[in-house]
Amino acid sequence: VNLEEVARINPQVKAGGRFAPKDCIALQKVAIIIPFRNREEHLKYWLYYLHPILQRQQLDYGVYVINQDGEEEFNRAKLLNIGFAEALKEYDYDCFVFSDVDLIPMDDRNTYKCYSQPRHLSVSMDKFGFRLPYNQYFGGVSALSKEQFTKINGFPNNYWGWGGEDDDIYNRLVFKGMGISRPDAVIGKCRMIRHSRDRKNEPNPERFDRIAHTRETMNSDGLNTLSYKVLRTDKYPLYTKITVDIGSPNS
Ligand code: BGC
Repeated sequence: VNLEEVARINPQVKAGGRFAPKDCIALQKVAIIIPFRNREEHLKYWLYYLHPILQRQQLDYGVYVINQDGEEEFNRAKLLNIGFAEALKEYDYDCFVFSDVDLIPMDDRNTYKCYSQPRHLSVSMDKFGFRLPYNQYFGGVSALSKEQFTKINGFPNNYWGWGGEDDDIYNRLVFKGMGISRPDAVIGKCRMIRHSRDRKNEPNPERFDRIAHTRETMNSDGLNTLSYKVLRTDKYPLYTKITVDIGSPNS
């Protein structure tokens, strides 16, 4: 995949990965947030596949890649919080789609928008045999409106390394009285681009303990305690890349 070529075949996409349909007013303004570090190859594929789909879905959207600087353990949920905050500084988004960089939907009807309840989009992944690995699974790709996201105080900031943060988010939604909306297993099909485990994203041994305490921690860890530093913002033709210093587990 060559990004110049991808930009050429998506001439309606504007700098920073922004698009709005010409012939209608989109129902929602959607920020797509991708947590990221060292996955340039996957990002190319994601942009190649997703831009055409998102345009066919007639969304008013922007693509934000939140790049974790440094060598600390990866912190997916904190990067997603940052994406929410930074995208809102740029445009009046009302919906946020949080997507891993390696997940490609297989059906145009799996709309990257928000619903009356938080939406789980990656319900039928090839790596799980096109089924949910378990009923409460909320990982991969999800969509929350601005209201739904603020109601749960955003996502946790203190899951460093792999696993658990998506279960914590699920708990937050349930504790605030919400339920999960999902497409059916056909519409929800998606492929994960194969990869080996990343460096500095080891399974987090604290995750089991943390997800057992979401109810007590959710009000004191989230959007209201989010701190980070933007190191640089790059507007590429197909996406906006925001590189951030997110600190370390005990800072
Ligand atoms: C982890 C989740 C992960 C899921 C599927 C769970 O055990 O806590 O973070 O998404 O497994 O791999």
